[in-house]
Amino acid sequence: MNNRLQEKPQHRKLRGYAFDPSLSLLIDTVDINKITYKVIWEEPKKDPLKRNSDTIPLLPGPTGDYLEIIDYDPTVKRFYTPVDLNDPYLLASDGLAPSESNPQFHQQMVYAVAMTTIKNFEKGLGRPILWASRLLDTNAYEEYVPRLRIYPHAMREANAYYSPMKKAILFGYFASTPASSTLSMPGSLVFTCLSHDIIAHELTHAILYGLHRNYSRPCNPDVLAFHEAFADIIALFQHFTFPEVLKHQIKRTKGDLEKQNLLGELAQQFGTAIGRYGSLRNAIGQTNQKTGVWEPATPSPNDYQTIMEPHARGSILVAAVFEAFLSIYKNRVADLLRIATGGSGILPEGEIHPDLVGRLAGEASKSAQHILNMYSCFGLLPSGRHYFW
Ligand SMILES: [Zn+2]
Repeated sequence: MNNRLQEKPQHRKLRGYAFDPSLSLLIDTVDINKITYKVIWEEPKKDPLKRNSDTIPLLPGPTGDYLEIIDYDPTVKRFYTPVDLNDPYLLASDGLAPSESNPQFHQQMVYAVAMTTIKNFEKGLGRPILWASRLLDTNAYEEYVPRLRIYPHAMREANAYYSPMKKAILFGYFASTPASSTLSMPGSLVFTCLSHDIIAHELTHAILYGLHRNYSRPCNPDVLAFHEAFADIIALFQHFTFPEVLKHQIKRTKGDLEKQNLLGELAQQFGTAIGRYGSLRNAIGQTNQKTGVWEPATPSPNDYQTIMEPHARGSILVAAVFEAFLSIYKNRVADLLRIATGGSGILPEGEIHPDLVGRLAGEASKSAQHILNMYSCFGLLPSGRHYFW
């Protein structure tokens, strides 16, 4: 008999970075980079292979119904102690405080972002997501894979990837080699498992592989490019689900999201750490690698004929989807801007009113949620039909 006075909570609150640790070093973004993720309160099955198995509290790792975080670092040949998110001290303080030097926080961060990405997919799909099953040697049978494995410190290199063979995501870490020491400290360690964008991107690869396994067979140049674009789109549009970040960027751009802003950028710390001026990818523009000045992107119809590398080719679709989002957003806020400007639609110099910031952020968030749902629903399409190419 359950003697508890309270119902089971809906959510578990966990602190983490909204983007990555580099934004906590900038005075402009330090206040918005630490957020609290609200993830599903999990009580995993004792035996994940049994349908009617009893449930148990979330295990250290964390290990739940969907994920199993295994923190073995082959570079130093050691396991890091798994974080126990049911520790009363951690429950009372929304998990560990963000820290680059604490491996237990790294485990908490990957868990929080991965569970947030899973929740967004399930909202769009209307059903639980399933990981791709494991093909046995004979190829005649498939083995159910209840949990995706995540290795936060799997290798010492500037890389992170989903391995369909291992049914796992492997995150690397590496020493920074920035183009200029003003961008980041040369030689400082960069952990890909601390980047919201990289975690959401890799998780999307794993979810998409579970939905449609054939989309990883490169039968034409669009297939792998689509996988990359899909993963970037989910990572980008998840930025719009963080209210404080959204309001901050709306305020800074006075609601014009075509200007340079964090919402259209992906993996800032990774980008600068591998020697670029700015983020790894950007949906609305990019920093000129010679001058270091940000420039809006100018779409070229030739790109589709000439760019074949999957990430770069995928960026063409990402930019098109982001432009569609901007059109929806601009349409939705046109009346608000008319009301705020006495009909001219042209905002005066200076900051915009906090009420207007709130309303513009609400419309941006709604428009972004439509895009997120549209892409999450992609899994509902029959796997034999390729609607996108
Ligand atoms: Zn990828």
